[in-house]
Order: sequence, then structure tokens, then C-alpha cells
Amino acid sequence: MEMVVATRNTGKLKEIRRLLESRGIRVRGLEEFPGVPDVVEDGQTFAENAIKKAEAVAQFTSLPCLADDSGLVVDALQGRPGVHSARFSGAEADDQSNNRKLLDEMATVPEIQRQAAFCCVMALCMPGQSPRLFQGRVNGVILERQKGDGGFGYDPLFWLPGYNCTMAELPLDTKNQVSHRGQALRQLVDFLTTLPA
Ligand code: IMP
Repeated sequence: MEMVVATRNTGKLKEIRRLLESRGIRVRGLEEFPGVPDVVEDGQTFAENAIKKAEAVAQFTSLPCLADDSGLVVDALQGRPGVHSARFSGAEADDQSNNRKLLDEMATVPEIQRQAAFCCVMALCMPGQSPRLFQGRVNGVILERQKGDGGFGYDPLFWLPGYNCTMAELPLDTKNQVSHRGQALRQLVDFLTTLPA
């Protein structure tokens, strides 16, 4: 089977490609489809945004399409940045400016109140069918400085107590075993195995 993955985030695409291709699914990136519409992620929830992206790309390509909407949910910030994780520090945001803003906003938050979670909702759109959702969540703690240079986004600030390291210190395959995205992807793979050949 093949599917289009509706993301321009190279970090996400790398993780999704590694897990799906190891299960024999051919992953096609958006760069293979010139003119594919850019979707405005203006939903209030991860699910809304994931469905919107998957539906738009499935309609354009007429192929099964998978979209991921994900982000960081921080308790002390009442759930922010949440669906705004990619643009937390403004329209020109990048990983470094987002991490700096997160550290600034958390500057006075004591260690015992620095709990957070990465959340992911994936939407699969198959031509002629309503979208299916798959979800994952991983809990962690926001550090006071960055540690590790793997992964992407907020990974260097996200401490995993069970692993004694940050998400950015995990090799790609290990990140996929524990991460919010890996959890959602495994549910997707289980679902695909139930489909008739
Ligand atoms: P999206 O493309 O709107 O889903 O934005 C997701 C944003 O959430 C990314 O740009 C990152 O800032 C953050 N994010 C999502 N997943 C991860 C992850 O696995 N590690 C670090 N940051 C993540």
C-alpha cells in the first residue's frame, strides 16, 4: 500500500517514514505533488486540523492520505502552546525561537510544576471513506535548558523521567517506540492490517 503524508515538517516526515516503511507501506511526500494546496491550520483541536489537512490532500491526490497534527501541552501554561506549537513565538517562528519563548514563559515555574505532554492526532483519509483518527500522548517535564541535538521542535527541552534523558537524546527508532507520534502510527498500522487485501 502507498499513502501520501501531508506534512512539510521534515522532522515529522522522517519519523513517520521510518515507522511506516519498516511495515512495508510506501510513503509519498508532498513534494511529489506540485500544486497541492497549503492548508490553514486554524482549528481549535489537533483532530480538527489533522482532518482538514488529510481531507484536502486526499482530495487533491486521489490517494490515501495521512496527516498529523501534534504539539506540546504544558500544565503551567494552561495547555499552551497546544495547537499553536509550531507558531508559538510568532509568524516567523522556528524551533530555536519557540524553545526560547517556552523557557522565558517557564522561567519562574518551579521544578515540581513543569509537567507537560506531547500529543498527536493522526487522520487517515481513504478515498470515498470518512476520516479515521489515531492518537498518542507522552508525558514529560520541561527542563530549564536544552539537552541533546536529535529530533526536532521542543525535543531538547522535554525530559522523559522513565528514560532519564530528553526526547532529543533518543535515537530515531527509540523515539518512535515511546513518542506520541509512534503510538498513533502503531494504531494506524494495526488498523491497516484489518483491511481486506
Ligand atoms: P503542526 O505541524 O501544526 O502539527 O506543528 C507541530 C509542532 O508541535 C511542531 O512544529 C513542534 O513545534 C511541536 N511538536 C510536535 N511533535 C513534536 C515532537 O515530536 N517533538 C518536538 N516538538 C514537536
